[in-house]
Order: sequence, then C-alpha cells, then structure tokens
Amino acid sequence: MTKKKNAVPAGLESEPKSCWEIYDTPAHEKAMEKLARSYVDFLSRCKTERESVEYVVERLKQAGFKPDLSEAACYRVKRDKTIFIARKGKRPLSDGFRFLGAHADTPRLDLKQHPLYQEAEVGLAKTHYYGGIRKHQWLARPLALHGVAVKKNGQAVTIVIGEDPNDPVLTIADLLPHLAYKQVEQKLSDAFEAEKLNVIFGHSPAENSDEENGNGTGKKRIKRRMLEILDERYGLVEDDLYSAEMHIVPAGPARFVGLDRALIGGYGHDDRVCLFAALEAFLRADQPEYTQVVVFWDKEEIGSEGSTGAKSKFFEYCLMDMLEAWEPKTKLHHVMELSKAVSADVHGALDPDFQELHDKLNAALLGYGPCFCKFTGHRGKVGANDAHPEYVAWLRNVLDEAGVPWQMAELGRVDLGGGGTVAKYLAEYGMDIIDFGTPVLSMHSPFEIISKVDLYATTLAYEAFLKK
Ligand code: MN
Ligand code: MN
Repeated sequence: MTKKKNAVPAGLESEPKSCWEIYDTPAHEKAMEKLARSYVDFLSRCKTERESVEYVVERLKQAGFKPDLSEAACYRVKRDKTIFIARKGKRPLSDGFRFLGAHADTPRLDLKQHPLYQEAEVGLAKTHYYGGIRKHQWLARPLALHGVAVKKNGQAVTIVIGEDPNDPVLTIADLLPHLAYKQVEQKLSDAFEAEKLNVIFGHSPAENSDEENGNGTGKKRIKRRMLEILDERYGLVEDDLYSAEMHIVPAGPARFVGLDRALIGGYGHDDRVCLFAALEAFLRADQPEYTQVVVFWDKEEIGSEGSTGAKSKFFEYCLMDMLEAWEPKTKLHHVMELSKAVSADVHGALDPDFQELHDKLNAALLGYGPCFCKFTGHRGKVGANDAHPEYVAWLRNVLDEAGVPWQMAELGRVDLGGGGTVAKYLAEYGMDIIDFGTPVLSMHSPFEIISKVDLYATTLAYEAFLKK
C-alpha cells in the first residue's frame, strides 16, 4: 500500500488544550475575573451547608423564585440544609428534565454534644470529625465556629465566631517538636488521635464561682467563663449545646494564590465550587427548552445518609409534588428515565508532588477545564455509577458544540484509593448521569486549591448542559 499524504483526519489524536489558551481574550478574562471575585466572596462567607443554602435562597429570591413547587420558578428547602430548585421549560415534563446536583457539606470538626471542659488551665471543646479529614491538617491553625443551637422553646440561635477580623479565633494546639521524638516514628494513623482534636476555647477564669468539685486548679472556673460568654453573647446555657450543630472550620477568607493570582485557595471547594458554578449557570439559563432541576444536598461527605442526604426521598417527594401541580397525568418514572443528569462534584487534580499516585494518562490537570469521571468507586469499580457511553457521547457533543473545554479522568491509580458521589443514588431512577466537576488540589484539606480558569470553564459547561 502506498502511503497517502495529508490523509490524517482532524482530531485523529486527542490533543487537550489548556483553558488559558482557549480563554485568551479580554472579554473572557474580564468575565473570568468577575466570576472569580464573586466566588471568593461566596466561599469566604459560606462554610457550612446551612450558610450555602441560605446564600442560594437569597439569590433565588432576587431572581423571582418562589418557595412553592406549583410555580414555574420554584424551590423547596429541607431543614435549612438541602434545597430543590426547578424552572419550567418550554417542553412538557414528560420529555424529561435537565438535572444538576452538587453537595453543600464539607469535611470539618463537629463539636460533641457535651463539649466543654477545662484541663491544665485551658478551656477546651471536644470534637467529632465529619467526613474524610487528615487529622494533622487541623492542628496549629486559626479555626472558627459556625453553628446553630436550638433552645427548648424552638428558637434557633445562629453562631459565627472567628470570621470578623475583630473576633477571636479558636485553635487546636500541636505537639512541640522537642517532645515529638516518639510521635514522628509512629504511623500517621496512630500519631494523630481523634480524641486529641480538642479545640482551645478559653483560658481566663470566671470571677465568681461556687464550683468546688471541678478538676485542675481552676476548679472549673475557666469552663464557667466560657459558658458566661456564650450566655452573654447568644443567650445559651450548657444544655442548649445538646440540641446544637456546631462546626469547627478553618477561619478566614478564601484567597487568590500564586504571583499571578491564577489559583483560588480556600476551605470547601469540594463541593461549593460546583454548587456555585451550577447556581450561576442555572440563573443565566433563562427560558429553557427542557425543565431544569437543581439540587444541593447535605451529608454527601458521610455517605449521603439521613433525611437531607441524596439517599433520602426528598428529591423524589419534590418531583412528585411538582408533577402533580404541573402535569398530573405524567408518570414520575417516565420523567426520570428520560432525564439527563450531571453529578456536579469536584475531582482530584494531578498533584505535582505525588504524581506516582496517579495514572498520568487518566489524571485531571489544573487548568484543563471541568472533568468527567465516567465511573467512581474503588478497586474493581466497586460502588460505582458507570455512565453509559451513549450519554458520554451526547455530552461530548454538547460541550464541543458550545466550545467549552473538558477532560476525562479517574481518581488515582487503580487499587490505590477511590471515592464515591451522589451519582449512584440518582442512577437508580434510570436517568442518565455522570460525575462532572472542577479539578481540586489538596482536596479535603483546610485550604483546597482550584484554578480560576477551571471555575470559569465549569460554569460555561454547566450552562451549555442546562441549555441543550
Ligand atoms: Mn464532593
Ligand atoms: Mn468530598
């Protein structure tokens, strides 16, 4: 056979392109900067699922959405921690809907229900960690308290300490190197114990105390002082902490990172970056062809459990009520089976210092756009939602037509780890679904990193998906 010249078809070989090259115009740069600034503001403000849902409701109200699922632009909130949002399309619901789901909860330290005590002249609070944390990352750094306590009369008291520059912060002390000779020889899992993640809450004693049976030389007067302050500032007594959800999170705002300010560092990109991008995309995509549904869940980080997690019936109940109001004759399972969904969740980016833990051919790169993860799970794809190739092809086409860059990856080398998302719980309904979100460095750490250009590309990708 003779070799033909110039016979190579376009795109024969996959050639990924950096988003920085694709969005290299003043218009894109301006829009990217604007988006990044409002995201940094959001991330600095919203550190818990409640705060994120409150932010989302604020934005929805501004856009004219009503908390009534019979309306064409509507939402419903469950326990202030999860939210269902919908907007009617031109086509009937019987043609299916476009769905974006992200999660609003983030790994952190929760206060135990009986947290306060004093030891060695320090007032402390005991914690129970939530989600997958690396315990040593939470030591010797400024921390804040975000939470809600519900008093016996039902009154909810919101607490934020450690964010205002005039506020004090909290912290967990770490061992000095001089006494860490033994600890540095230990396995990480033995060296850092959950029961030693105790947060420093105070130090000075209460002026008057009738406590005589306390421990330490302060006779519980330090603990008494902490309670006095909670009473003065929030009207809380110790028993109110039994009916409270108090979260210890990294203190301080999100920041641009790098000399060029091209990265964004902050607490909770997982999964607030996808939540933010999904909300932005949703609010832009007015008058859609298909009905659009967006849900932001709680409890993803602990397996999507409980009445506010993705395993709950909340999503289904909302759809049932919406269907009854909009199209009572249409069957729910028909709508589900015709729907197309994106599990908007972040993906671990290739770590420059730990490249050996990734299969570089199948790793997500910072700056190369939102990342598809065809399947999640661990080992032999155990616990995975594995998206169908027909659906992946459809999505490729949507994004390529819209000119939005994307990448395809899996999390780490086979057998070295893994993870799951909400996708598998939605796949049960028979809808097409795939994981698709922003690459993150230092995931689940108190200071996660994303690329500004990936935030921009993710938003445009979600927008293209919702509109198609
Ligand atoms: Mn996530
Ligand atoms: Mn996570």
